[in-house]
Amino acid sequence: MTTAAIIVAAGRGTRAGGDLPKQWQLLAGKPVLDHTIDAFFGRVDRVCVVIHPDDLPRAARFGLPLVAGGATRAESVRNALDSLAGTGVTKVLIHDGARPLVTPRVIGDVLAALDHSVGAAPALPVTDALWRGGASVTGTAPRDGLWRAQTPQGFRFDAILAAHRAHPGGAADDVEVARAAGHDVRIVPGDEDNLKLTFAADFARAERILKDRKMDIRLGNGYDVHAFTEGDGVWLCGVKVPHGRALLGHSDADVGMHALTDAIYGALAEGDIGVHFPPSDPQWKGAASEIFLRHAMQRVAARGYVLANCDVTLVCERPKIGPHQAAMRQALAAIMGVEMDRISVKATTSERLGFTGREEGIAALATCALVRA
Ligand code: MG
Repeated sequence: MTTAAIIVAAGRGTRAGGDLPKQWQLLAGKPVLDHTIDAFFGRVDRVCVVIHPDDLPRAARFGLPLVAGGATRAESVRNALDSLAGTGVTKVLIHDGARPLVTPRVIGDVLAALDHSVGAAPALPVTDALWRGGASVTGTAPRDGLWRAQTPQGFRFDAILAAHRAHPGGAADDVEVARAAGHDVRIVPGDEDNLKLTFAADFARAERILKDRKMDIRLGNGYDVHAFTEGDGVWLCGVKVPHGRALLGHSDADVGMHALTDAIYGALAEGDIGVHFPPSDPQWKGAASEIFLRHAMQRVAARGYVLANCDVTLVCERPKIGPHQAAMRQALAAIMGVEMDRISVKATTSERLGFTGREEGIAALATCALVRA
């Protein structure tokens, strides 16, 4: 299965004020379209942007396939679908360039719904009363069964390509095109933050939402202990450190990686390693602990966060950790897919006190911070 997103940004709308079309205006310091493209990175296999022919030079820096827009939105979408034809794309999301705050949850829900339906799109129920009128109210309209449509609107690729090629034109959106071809379009829950920037006030609201998202910081801590047993080395933070003993455990007993993994699950409020990988399940016996850490990082991405930093402290008299610190940070960075400067590994002794002081085992503590992607 190959997924693609078409971001439609060929409009000339300047109702938001200013000289530039709204998708090129700055939102929190960068163009609206940059935010929109970023929202899809890592969530689909390909991103293609539909641009007004005049804007092609401006968009070259994206390093993405660009498609020249047509005279109407439908024509723009059709150009993009044509450009993807025969490339193996099976699911396509069609998204307004002026909806920069679309969330990972909405994107994921639309893609998932396409397993069961030809089309799927996010929407929110209408909750305000509806009136007819001009200067005065002339009547009311029932709101039951009415929805506020959002994007991305998702479709199985071959179906929407054929539907667009067959459509006479004049459709309000791609859902209308799909329905005209007889396809079912499922409604998935939209998001109030997934607003379409139209007026200057929308930009102010979007900036407030972005500010709130930046402030969404999640902290987690983890603690783990493993006892020594006979062996020739200990796994610590993804590195096998030669030692006269090994650590006892159901998996490879990497006490540092376990503490770190639990810190990440903790930051997400998603339990701990034992919940996701029950020790009673024989398939995890002797498992490499990186399986757990990779899973925790997948959960971070799925929830729309990135790791800001993490800090692991190993508590033991021996082996000496210092000579292996850099290798440990490097190993964790590779597993977690983050830069090494976001990862700290340090060690301390417990002054020969307690179980770590008596060299009965090793303890590890970890802290991590997650921020909104
Ligand atoms: Mg453990």
